[in-house]
Amino acid sequence: MYELKIISQFGAAHQLRDFGGKCENLHGHNWRIEVYVTGDQLDEVGLLIDFGVLKKNTQKVLEALDHQFLNELEYFKDINPSSENIARYIYEGLKRHWNNRGVQISKVTAWESDTACATYWGP
Ligand SMILES: [Zn+2]
Repeated sequence: MYELKIISQFGAAHQLRDFGGKCENLHGHNWRIEVYVTGDQLDEVGLLIDFGVLKKNTQKVLEALDHQFLNELEYFKDINPSSENIARYIYEGLKRHWNNRGVQISKVTAWESDTACATYWGP
């Protein structure tokens, strides 16, 4: 198997409801996003997938989050915009328009600081 990863980022504000700590207050992060894909077949050039294609797809999903107050987005109306749920949002957003059968989006990691991240992979 081959595994590829691209790294992107976005900046946004959020507040965690019912958290009972200082993250209940409005604040922001520059999230660093890692997207992993896997597959076992290379093309005739020797690539699993063009990194540029993966970056472009990721960028499209992140555009909806960048410079937003995440709590106001429809997806986060009832669930907290935690790094866990942000990773899931991006994973699902990528999967929705993914049509490369030989390459699977395997997981998404959202770093909210240099030392803390959450990863989601789905069914
Ligand atoms: Zn936060």
